[in-house]
Amino acid sequence: MRADTPLDFGDPADLERLRGDFRAWLAEHPLPERLPGEPLPVFLHRWHRLLHSGGWVGLDVPERYGGRGLTPLHQVAVSDELGVRGAPGVPRIGYLAHALLEFASEDQRRRLLPRMLAGDDVWCQGFSEPGAGSDLAGMSTYAERHDHGHDHGHGHRDSAYYTVRGQKLWTSYAQYSAYCLLLARTDRTAPPHASITAFVLPLDRPGVTVRPLRAANGDDEFCELFLDDVRLTESERIGGEGDGWALAMTTVSYERNALDTGHLSKYGLLVERLRRTARERRGQLPDGLLSEIGRCFVDYEVLVAHARRRTAERLAGQVAGPESSIDKLLMTRAEQRLYETALKVFPEELHGPGGEVFAEYLYSRAASVYGGTSQIQRNIIAKRVLRLTDGGG
Ligand SMILES: Cc1cc2nc3c(=O)[nH]c(=O)nc-3n(C[C@H](O)[C@H](O)[C@H](O)COP(=O)(O)OP(=O)(O)OC[C@H]3O[C@@H](n4cnc5c(N)ncnc54)[C@H](O)[C@@H]3O)c2cc1C
Repeated sequence: MRADTPLDFGDPADLERLRGDFRAWLAEHPLPERLPGEPLPVFLHRWHRLLHSGGWVGLDVPERYGGRGLTPLHQVAVSDELGVRGAPGVPRIGYLAHALLEFASEDQRRRLLPRMLAGDDVWCQGFSEPGAGSDLAGMSTYAERHDHGHDHGHGHRDSAYYTVRGQKLWTSYAQYSAYCLLLARTDRTAPPHASITAFVLPLDRPGVTVRPLRAANGDDEFCELFLDDVRLTESERIGGEGDGWALAMTTVSYERNALDTGHLSKYGLLVERLRRTARERRGQLPDGLLSEIGRCFVDYEVLVAHARRRTAERLAGQVAGPESSIDKLLMTRAEQRLYETALKVFPEELHGPGGEVFAEYLYSRAASVYGGTSQIQRNIIAKRVLRLTDGGG
């Protein structure tokens, strides 16, 4: 059994055709070279735009919003074809797109989604704060509502506007983004879960300061976002006041799910590399390490089986929910064990320049934190999947 071949989802004929078309397109549009000194997000953005130019982004988004109106399985197939080639996946914007699809007004969806899918506007996610990560509902950024709106002329008048004060933290790639999907409290008296509202925040708006932070792996992925009386119009609110918590749960449920099979295929490539190396160095690797490789293989197989099941559920119309926490835990375990094992098999990666396994190993440590920590995923599974509290059946 090999782990570096495309995943078999029992593809129907039209999907085989799509895979064939995509392979032909990839042959004509190879992954561009990363320029010397080019920041990774800038390089990935070029790749995003190239993929979009071929029609390979947002396959499962309706055509009227800039997608192709196909199924999640079509997007999975594209991710998978990229993954088995070791190419960067389709841009991870699906979870933000889903938040807009489910909560934004028709006008917002038509305005924002096509540009997001095309990479014309890069988006970031402004949820976490210095005092509100796991306890997201405890956020203190506040959007104060003013009911005397701005007159734009031509008979168009916003009925209200908000001024936003507060700070966000860990906002990935805000320095490269045009828009932020922002959560802020709009009611100081209602319970936390009923008082959070979502906005689309243009990051060039007066009062916004973006300050990048340097992480242990040398990347400046994270940013602090300071919001100093930033004015947002009512038409920049996504959903109603108080809908922000539901939007946040939708967003993270899609963020945590296992359908990003480009990831899985990348793991598959590494599992296969480990298997090949262990066979070549037969008798040289300690048994303990061989059994770790075996466990990596099992983790990978479990993930693939799980991804197939999730795909089938999504095709049957099921939306992502708290069960995505299971996906997140399985992915975290697989990824962390895989790169830990790989570093033991390829210790030279620790020292050599461009040690890709080492860079991936460092980033894998964050998997148990981003998108909600592993402890929080287990709490969600206990409370919202198994309903072990509140007398739920
Ligand atoms: C690579 C990366 C990218 C990120 N990108 C973004 C982004 O783009 N936008 C964004 O908004 N956020 C982002 N985050 C932030 C991320 O969502 C938070 O770091 C995460 O939710 C944890 O919050 P915290 O850092 O405040 O830790 P804390 O909530 O302070 O947690 C500290 C520790 O306490 C544990 N803990 C806390 N509460 C409980 C509990 N009730 N039960 C058991 N244990 C508990 C946690 O598991 C953790 O181990 C990113 C994080 C990382 C690592």
